[in-house]
Amino acid sequence: MTTATVIEQQVDEALRLVATHNLAAASAVQRWMRISFRDASALLDELERRGYVGPAEGSRAREVFVRRCEQCGRIGKRAFHTLADDEHGIRITVCANKSACRKRRPAPTHPAA
Ligand SMILES: [Zn+2]
Repeated sequence: MTTATVIEQQVDEALRLVATHNLAAASAVQRWMRISFRDASALLDELERRGYVGPAEGSRAREVFVRRCEQCGRIGKRAFHTLADDEHGIRITVCANKSACRKRRPAPTHPAA
């Protein structure tokens, strides 16, 4: 495995975590990935270069531009929709394109009979 592959995997992992938690802070990435604060900051810098998070602002968390669909797991910057269930005080983020989202979802697993 090349070093570039390892780094790319870390970038993917950081992106998934940032999108899932809607939080881009080096201290959080450090904790989630069990890496050094320096490496966590470097990963966030890389996500910033790719346009997924905003620039570092002192010790505050960065702005997050990426989202994750809670139904199919798609991660991206565009074409999301927020469903609000005010009765239960729940808000979920899902793909704006419902049929594409449905196709991306893993097939339901059936317990063995
Ligand atoms: Zn989706």
